[in-house]
Amino acid sequence: MPDTGAMERYRVPPGASLDLAAADPDDRAAFDGDKAAGRAHLKTLRDRLEAVQERLWADGSRSLLVVLQALDTGGKDGTIRKVFSGVNPQGVKVHGFGVPSDEELARDYLWRIHHHVPGDGEVTVFNRSHYEDVLVVRVMGLAPGEVWRRRYDHIVAFEQLVVDEGTTILKFMLNISKAEQAARLQARIDDPEKRWKFNAGDIDHRARWDDYMAAYTEAITRTSTATAPWYVVPANRKWYRDLVVATTIVETLEAMDLRYPEPEEGIEGLVIT
Ligand code: AMP
Ligand code: MG
Repeated sequence: MPDTGAMERYRVPPGASLDLAAADPDDRAAFDGDKAAGRAHLKTLRDRLEAVQERLWADGSRSLLVVLQALDTGGKDGTIRKVFSGVNPQGVKVHGFGVPSDEELARDYLWRIHHHVPGDGEVTVFNRSHYEDVLVVRVMGLAPGEVWRRRYDHIVAFEQLVVDEGTTILKFMLNISKAEQAARLQARIDDPEKRWKFNAGDIDHRARWDDYMAAYTEAITRTSTATAPWYVVPANRKWYRDLVVATTIVETLEAMDLRYPEPEEGIEGLVIT
């Protein structure tokens, strides 16, 4: 079992200049064990998550927003499935952000995001997020530079507002290597049951790998704050990726000093007849 805080090695400190190219997608230094041990440990983390999520719900004054970002095949869906299975579905919401609709495009880019932030007692997971507006939008040239460049400051201010109002924010970039993405895309093409996940557009995005790395580097560097930190998660090994994300979420919730509400006067010792 990793020491408390062991995953902090993946947190990007505010103001640090991130070297994404030097972040090893195969790193596994925070867990002293193999895949079998890692999967077994994930089970204990899920039990802790279930218990602490129950307490978050009972406390009813705080919430948690988890942002997941990754390139195609980076493992966002798999992480959600593995980390949150077993948690009470009433307390956890997942929201995926795809290509904006006309209604969304007619408004500022944070409009559709703000609507889905968690309510009191809830955990919400964003599968993609407002970060697409400085990632795909920048790399694919969907908006002029002067438009996306000012968004980093908007995002920092927006997240601070959400934090100030009682939500804790954790942001994870699932970091896979270019070779691992090739293998995973190939597997999607070759497996009839996975083929539906493959879009021809995935190849265009892959062709801009270096541009995406530059866009992620700037986004993470400029928006990893003390109150809404980014974690760059080694994600070539799925079991290790799940451990890093689950451990960080569990330890964050357990440190939140959540309390059960005071029961009504006179309930203690009451005997039901
Ligand atoms: P998937 O996650 O495979 O369902 O794909 C969702 C697609 O929506 C990805 O290709 C994203 O790049 C795209 N997408 C998400 N947010 C935006 C955005 N704000 N602007 C343009 N495309 C986006
Ligand atoms: Mg896709």
